Amino acid sequence: MSIRLLIIGGVAGGATAAARARRLDERAEIVIFERGGHISFANCGLPYYIGGVIEDRDNLLVTTREAFMKRYRVDVRINTEVLAIHRDSKELEVTDLLTGETSRERYDKLIVSPGAEPMRPPLDGIDLEGIYRLRNIPDSDRIKAMVDSSNPRAAVVVGGGFIGLEMAENLVHRGVQTTVVEMADQVMAPLDPEMAGLIQAHLREQGVMLELGNGVASFRRNGDGLLVATQSGKDIPCDMVILSIGVIPEVKLAKEAGLQLSNRRSIVVDGTMSTSDPDIFAVGDAVQIRDLVTGLPTGVALAGPANKQARIAADNAMGRRSVYKGALGTSIVKVFKLTVAGTGASEKTLASNKIPYIVSYTHSGSHASYYPGASNMAIKLLFSPGDGTILGAQIAGEEGVDKRIDVLATAMQARMTVFDLEELELAYAPPFSSAKDPVNVAGFVASNILKGDVEITHWHDLAGMDKDSSVLLDLRAKEELDTSGAIPGSLNIPIDDLREALKDLDPHKTYIAYCAIGLRGYLAYRILSQNGFRCLNLSGGFRTFSGAEDEMMRKNPDSSLLKS
Ligand code: FAD
Repeated sequence: MSIRLLIIGGVAGGATAAARARRLDERAEIVIFERGGHISFANCGLPYYIGGVIEDRDNLLVTTREAFMKRYRVDVRINTEVLAIHRDSKELEVTDLLTGETSRERYDKLIVSPGAEPMRPPLDGIDLEGIYRLRNIPDSDRIKAMVDSSNPRAAVVVGGGFIGLEMAENLVHRGVQTTVVEMADQVMAPLDPEMAGLIQAHLREQGVMLELGNGVASFRRNGDGLLVATQSGKDIPCDMVILSIGVIPEVKLAKEAGLQLSNRRSIVVDGTMSTSDPDIFAVGDAVQIRDLVTGLPTGVALAGPANKQARIAADNAMGRRSVYKGALGTSIVKVFKLTVAGTGASEKTLASNKIPYIVSYTHSGSHASYYPGASNMAIKLLFSPGDGTILGAQIAGEEGVDKRIDVLATAMQARMTVFDLEELELAYAPPFSSAKDPVNVAGFVASNILKGDVEITHWHDLAGMDKDSSVLLDLRAKEELDTSGAIPGSLNIPIDDLREALKDLDPHKTYIAYCAIGLRGYLAYRILSQNGFRCLNLSGGFRTFSGAEDEMMRKNPDSSLLKS
């Protein structure tokens, strides 16, 4: 007898699971139930459709119901909501949202991929017209129609995560003055604050106003527009609001069916993506999975993991054993000219889980500096002080960030160390990279630290520096100081003059060497330490220090270290 596989949700996880199941079993009866009017649409493309970058709405439809049914012989029921899972009789209760008819559907195996819905906090005025959330095509139609027809002058984006920032960029692209209100002290919560600082500086350069560390208190009508009242007391007038403060897994069905849920209200699954009921599998934004770095349970609301889990759930539902090992949370986002990406654990996560780590910062050209168009890329690498295992990475830059984060994510999945990064043989010709790729450079610097070839210090250590016993030593050329500024109180000795200046240095002091990116600081460390001086190199140099200024300002607005 052929197996009857039912699937709840027809987008990233659901459609992938259906296609995989069909490839494994030509005779299975497969039915997808999708509440919305589309299957397999490109939710990741929605902000760019609103911004006009994706011009043709049809391009958002990765496939249509008809095409999918023809190719995979899957019964796709759109506008059909599953109301209940009856585990005792192995049936679903479904309703056709257009006719109101309800029916019962028997399953042998069930895959649940209901996704997560945008949060909607119970604030005064949250239901006012002009306040939007973005999850699906009808949502994007509504927002686009508003921008097209009403020519809004000002928008408030609530939440500075990746959807919020993509929306901010696309609204600016449409000529809308945009403010991002974010309750946390930084945008892009998965990143550490000094890396987020690079995005914040870029957003401001692009004209986006930021309200960081300030949540929304309420919404009110304001003539034809809206007034967003914030917790700091500041009111922001605007014509429209995008709510993008995060998502919550859609677990109502699973909960009512008695499937095991986690403390974070996600569906608990094992490595085969099986729930607490062996005939029910769950995937995507709604499930709890394992963090590959910390080993702890987590949720990752990203399309890549949803697709991979769906293949694995389909394998297991159709009788083939496959195992999902967990996720690194590798992610990437375009913010105007900047690309920002991360993989593995952040410093915040490692610190809060008491996992020992070392941080190093490097800044490298995206390709050979003599070939036109090279731009800088900032890399933060986190690795184990024991054996150098890579624990996480964050990168911000204008070009080539995508391939470097993918190399690092691959290296992490292969459990490589920073010593392996030194040796990676990566493709090079001047338009694409340098003979020492930025990933190699990150490996060299991290390995130097572990081998004891350099001792480093970080931007956040400077606040506690003892001014009597330490000297900030700026190794840059005078012209660089004039154009970029310097850390207040530094002694400037250009690197090429350092050997001659040794006789004037006090051997009882500790020299905190810094330059633009950390390379000349490293050279200074080698010269000073071999001449009997105590030295520390400021990791990432003045560039990383500058990226951290928002954070330093937040922690200590009166710090003498801040540039005026
Ligand atoms: P979904 O793809 O959301 O599918 C769930 C479907 O289940 C929904 O269509 C819903 O209608 C349906 N459903 C729920 N309950 C029922 C029910 N009871 N009956 C019938 N149907 C039901 N991820 C990235 O990796 N990169 C990106 O750039 C990116 N950009 C994004 C941009 C936006 C605007 C959004 C909204 C998401 C973005 N994501 C991105 C996240 C990514 O889309 C999700 O992680 C992924 O779609 C999750 O897949 P899923 O199958 O779990 O849920």
